[in-house]
Amino acid sequence: MSALFEVRSVVKRTAIIRFRHRVENNIRFYDLPFEGIGDIWLLLKLPEGKLQITEFMHLLTVLTFCTGVLLQSCNNSASPDSPPGKEPFVVVLGIAQDAGYPQAACTKTCCRDLWNQHTGRKMVSCIALVDPVEQKAWMFDATPDFKFQLAELISDKYGQPELGGILLTHAHIGHYTGLMHLGHEVMGAKEVPVFAMPRMAKFLKENGPWSQLVDFQNIALRQLAADSVVVLNERLKVRPFLVPHRDEFSETVGFEILGPEKSLIFIPDIDKWERWDRAVVEWVKTHDYNLIDGTFYENGEIPGRDMSQIPHPFIEESMKLFSNLPKEAKSKVIFIHLNHTNPALRQNSPARKNVQRQGFGIADEGMILGL
Ligand SMILES: [Zn+2]
Ligand SMILES: [Zn+2]
Ligand SMILES: [Zn+2]
Repeated sequence: MSALFEVRSVVKRTAIIRFRHRVENNIRFYDLPFEGIGDIWLLLKLPEGKLQITEFMHLLTVLTFCTGVLLQSCNNSASPDSPPGKEPFVVVLGIAQDAGYPQAACTKTCCRDLWNQHTGRKMVSCIALVDPVEQKAWMFDATPDFKFQLAELISDKYGQPELGGILLTHAHIGHYTGLMHLGHEVMGAKEVPVFAMPRMAKFLKENGPWSQLVDFQNIALRQLAADSVVVLNERLKVRPFLVPHRDEFSETVGFEILGPEKSLIFIPDIDKWERWDRAVVEWVKTHDYNLIDGTFYENGEIPGRDMSQIPHPFIEESMKLFSNLPKEAKSKVIFIHLNHTNPALRQNSPARKNVQRQGFGIADEGMILGL
């Protein structure tokens, strides 16, 4: 495999098209993995032998055309600039583990350069479900980056939807502390629906400063029950399901989002897959998108810390678990909630390339998944 050519075009986000070539039965294949929204692969078949300059120019024309088509399709169906028509969609608002990227006090190579530059920074894992017809949006988790993520969500890009509610996965700092912005000191919000499991709701009601949000009716708690469907409107349903995690203050849930055409699973935090009683491989096959825990890439990633105390499925383990899935199903697996130490966070890292080469995805801010 060799990288021969690279095209970068910017339409708010970067599309990278890179050749990799292989030869089979005297036919030279040029694979063009499209790193961007969704997974689009093009395959060019060219005769074996050295490329003539005319062929190269022809190839260049094809590539330029393909780039245009891809970016156009991106624009039409997936780009943050043009959400897909009137159909509901999920937009990714953050992809980092609870602490964000860079992480406080980190001066290691993973974060060092990010303290003085914005490029490469990532907000904490968060997605939102947007219904352009009702002009409403629901956020999944309220992160420490809530103010930026809310600004993004209710912007022109997505038709200025009203915040219809917030659905919480659990009481770890990256997933609920953004609620503070709804309070008296900031927005003074009026009864924003906050959907939470029973322990999570009790935790908010009984512990300050969260209890003040309840007392002042900045938020209106709506209790969730595991595996029970919540009907958001006639087009959209959500179902929380329990997952094993370090449940110090609350249960932990993932969410299944059911749209008119497609479905999505969101599991930002889970202990090892084998601790879950669900046949996850089968489950992944039956959903159109699976945004799952990609906290760590591999064992030993945090030197000097016993990683069994912070169990997550390593991306390497998940890729192995899903290795026998057909290519299309693999492309539905998108890793999110990446720790600052995770090499797959960084563009062009061998780890990131390996994930993509194996046919899996890595979430990025602005990624749109039509439902
Ligand atoms: Zn987390
Ligand atoms: Zn770091
Ligand atoms: Zn957690």
